[in-house]
Amino acid sequence: MNIDSIKNGYVIDHLKVGKAMEVYELLNLKNLECQVAIITNAKSNKMKKKDIIKIDKLIDIDLAKLAFIDPDVTINIVKNDKIIEKKKLAQPEKIVNVAKCKNPRCITSIERDLDQIFLLTNKENNTYRCKYCEASLKD
Ligand SMILES: [Zn+2]
Repeated sequence: MNIDSIKNGYVIDHLKVGKAMEVYELLNLKNLECQVAIITNAKSNKMKKKDIIKIDKLIDIDLAKLAFIDPDVTINIVKNDKIIEKKKLAQPEKIVNVAKCKNPRCITSIERDLDQIFLLTNKENNTYRCKYCEASLKD
């Protein structure tokens, strides 16, 4: 598989398989006018298989959202055909209005004007819990 290398932009590497589409949705990459390449099930020495996203423009990326989806990614910043920086991300301690609480009895299900706030409660397994009812985001 051959994909044009990018001149100025980002290569989001080491995404877990299946996460590329989540990033695409949550970061609204479909609204970009530049080239975006999504590669899934790419071979990786470190992870066996991985997803990769290439964005052919230096856009503003919401790093907190990206780290929330997959904290283990590497972001390669490309300028003039060269990788000038490799960035690792830190999980955000708090995410606001990125995901919705699934607990039907949660106050956020009743009071729709409330911000949806989740707090990082376990770094190792990337667990976020609702600030109001403590429901886990992943259950
Ligand atoms: Zn809740």
